[in-house]
Amino acid sequence: MADLPDLYLIADMAPDLVAALEQRFTVHRSDPPATTRAICGGGSSVVDAALIERLPALEIIAINGVGYDGVDLNAAKARGVRVTNTPDVLTDDVADLAIGLWLAVERRIAVNDAAMRDGGWAVPLARRASGRKIGIFGLGRIGHAIAKRAAPFGGEILYTARSEKPVAWRFLPDITALAAACDVLILAAPGSAGTQGIVDAAVLAALGNEGVLVNVARGSLVDQAAVVAALEKRTIAGAGLDVFADEPAVPDALKTMPQVVLSPHQGSATVETRAAMAALVLANLDAHLGGSPLPSAVI
Ligand code: NAP
Repeated sequence: MADLPDLYLIADMAPDLVAALEQRFTVHRSDPPATTRAICGGGSSVVDAALIERLPALEIIAINGVGYDGVDLNAAKARGVRVTNTPDVLTDDVADLAIGLWLAVERRIAVNDAAMRDGGWAVPLARRASGRKIGIFGLGRIGHAIAKRAAPFGGEILYTARSEKPVAWRFLPDITALAAACDVLILAAPGSAGTQGIVDAAVLAALGNEGVLVNVARGSLVDQAAVVAALEKRTIAGAGLDVFADEPAVPDALKTMPQVVLSPHQGSATVETRAAMAALVLANLDAHLGGSPLPSAVI
């Protein structure tokens, strides 16, 4: 049998996906040889110019996630290296989690659960979720799915994206205006130079002391210290956070705040979606090896 091509695996993957990769490739978890033709990573993986430079035979970077903010696209493009991701198959799960985090914050679901497990039975008043103005930053696949889920709660849907969309929801041109106009600010835009730290102290001040922040996008979108400070000073009312600046590190201050719901970057982490993502990773790699069009190419 001919030698299998070399693949550099740079993130933890489900055993089934690793086994499928091992049928197709010689998989290296460290010290990739110069003959490495493929890299497989996750949404948080870093593939920088130095790594691309180190691998002269590299042809494809297959990301098991929709976000590819850790991949240096310019360096890949300059070398003619293809990059693929897993859009669409995870959209519903991430949108579901955004709604879940919002409701958990407003209705104290997590903190009440913890109190009852401790033997408590108190009924502190929560805040009504229905009728709230929902501001969605990033109205792409996930943002749109969040809007569709939030609309039946009877409040107004507002959004910010790079361009206005042909939808019934209200467009606001920048995130500060969006934060000022909404009750719940949900982040659903990619990590990028354009979104880095975009939720800063001024945006949080605009969101206001009744406002709730939900982040299912990337930790890089927020100034995390400013979020912690706003929560401590109660200049925002609460937060539901699936992503963090320096995962898996989570600021200790957040862990003690009853108005915060924490989630370990698990937006796409369901059995169904992880299987669909794995199938798409393999479909991209198989298409590349077979010389067919890539099902979900970024470049
Ligand atoms: P998408 O379809 O590409 O949508 C991205 C949206 O963000 C678009 O509406 C885009 O605007 C907007 N946007 C991009 N840059 C912007 C900027 N500088 N200012 C304002 N809006 C901007 O992506 P998606 O599939 O919905 O995924 C969104 C992100 O969710 C991913 O990139 C990933 O980081 C994150 N994610 C997180 C998890 C998790 O586990 N928590 C899972 C999956 C994805 P235009 O439409 O006008 O271009």
